[in-house]
Amino acid sequence: NAVKSNNTLQFYQNGDDEAYLYKLNLIEELKLALEQDSGNLFLTYQPKLNLKTKQVDKAEALIRWVDKNNEFVNPEMFIALAEQSGLIVTLTQWVIRQAAHQIQIWNQQGLYFNVSVNLSAQDIQHEQFVHFLLETTTHYCVDPSSIILELTERDIAENEALVIAKLTHLKSLGFEISVDDYGIGQSSLAKLKNLPVDELKIDKCFILKLNESSQDQDIVESTITLGHKLGLRVVAEGVENQPSLDLLTQFNCDYIQGYYLAKPQKGEQLSEWYAHYVK
Ligand code: C2E
Ligand code: CA
Ligand code: CA
Ligand code: CA
Repeated sequence: NAVKSNNTLQFYQNGDDEAYLYKLNLIEELKLALEQDSGNLFLTYQPKLNLKTKQVDKAEALIRWVDKNNEFVNPEMFIALAEQSGLIVTLTQWVIRQAAHQIQIWNQQGLYFNVSVNLSAQDIQHEQFVHFLLETTTHYCVDPSSIILELTERDIAENEALVIAKLTHLKSLGFEISVDDYGIGQSSLAKLKNLPVDELKIDKCFILKLNESSQDQDIVESTITLGHKLGLRVVAEGVENQPSLDLLTQFNCDYIQGYYLAKPQKGEQLSEWYAHYVK
């Protein structure tokens, strides 16, 4: 049960053969899907509404994968596998290229959305990451300020000094930085103060039932106030109904994202959705 280091998984345990082989096989399939780029791997975009201006001017890129049995694979699951196998660096580069290309297409249609992409700890630590981002935005004639890099506090904490240096560099180049899933895990106010970030995304676990939970309301309202004191834009994700939207407006939240506004959809569908939305 020797574990190969390159693109295989590091978590083999005795007696776990079946699950191990399944995951190994999935990784191989994902690798092929990335290489072949034949359309079973694609990005969807979920719009964000600016509660102050009522404009929809941002969207989050979320990856989708349809496997060879024509079934959607859970993104959290295959992203975790990609992280464990090291494939994530290649996957994220693919995501960033796709997103930059989509921004270029939208710009040609007169549409301007700033697009968030999700990063993993390994991406930001990768030596060529800054270079890759600059090369890609230049290639697609996309301004760095149209790209928002989302990462969690856990991703930052993994190698904090290095990551902060990288984020500072990226910010100076015009890219925006967002702290994703804020409020779960080891959120620390002291830390947030020292991070070179632009945006705070309140985790959807506080938002999904916001209208029903006075405790969630207290947490969310104080997080928004805190975010603003630190000079950050605050986004609430997982908004599923009007009462929650109304509460977030009342709490002075900057942006909302969620099924109530729109589900994640392919780039061309978002253009159509937007045309109807602004009418
Ligand atoms: P995330 O970054 O927190 O993304 C938000 C998730 O919430 C998405 O799930 C989105 O579809 C879902 N969501 C949005 N609005 C609502 C709502 O109103 N109600 C509910 N119940 N859910 C809502 P999704 O697309 O399944 O992605 C799951 C996670 O997988 C993401 O969580 C992110 O951690 C990861 N992920 C997705 N795409 C990528 C990617 O391209 N790269 C990386 N590294 N991770 C990704
Ligand atoms: Ca995210
Ligand atoms: Ca993540
Ligand atoms: Ca999130």
